[in-house]
Amino acid sequence: MAEELERPGAEQWVPESGGIAALRRAAPGCRGCELWEPATQVVFSSGSAHARIVMVGEEPGDAEDLAGEPFVGPAGKLLRRAIEEAGIAMEEVYLTNAIKHFSFVQRGKRRIHRKPDLAQMVACRPWLEAELRYVDPDLTVLLGASAARQVLGPGIKVTQQRGQVLTRETTLGERRFIPTVHPSSILRARERRHDAYAAFVADLKVVAKAV
Ligand code: SF4
Repeated sequence: MAEELERPGAEQWVPESGGIAALRRAAPGCRGCELWEPATQVVFSSGSAHARIVMVGEEPGDAEDLAGEPFVGPAGKLLRRAIEEAGIAMEEVYLTNAIKHFSFVQRGKRRIHRKPDLAQMVACRPWLEAELRYVDPDLTVLLGASAARQVLGPGIKVTQQRGQVLTRETTLGERRFIPTVHPSSILRARERRHDAYAAFVADLKVVAKAV
């Protein structure tokens, strides 16, 4: 019970109108779960509210937490390079995360990424739902298993379904999604990095073709 009280969920902080600008203004006040407290600031989203493509990652990392902007660290730089190589204009992309605060463990001076747990994912979901409602993209790209599960549920298998256009019935009607890996997994691939990056760009080329 105490656990539930600590994670009331974001719903009461999500404004019912006002579009993406209102969400961005309201998000710093969210106390939907405990992740706001050790984080530097909320990291909401970047890009146009009228973008045709929404890309959803897992959560901000150390660099994003400090900058207050999503995808500005090493994985974000790799993502931006891959987007360009795939032939997608950055102006067409709205970047966000399933979780809006950095989840980490402090080890000495370093802050190590900690995977958000299911309760935190559920708590934060109303923000992403509102973003998808307002942007209403032609296509939503799910970067990694956490984002894919947040949007499509636990049955999604990113390794098997990556690069495929999946059509799903949502509260907004039929919508299209493409799951792929999170760019941070490419940075961790070490000697397979070149192949992993090429496969990622190939997935994004499917995105470019589909919009
Ligand atoms: S992680 Fe999400 S639900 Fe938790 S405090 Fe931050 S914005 Fe709110």
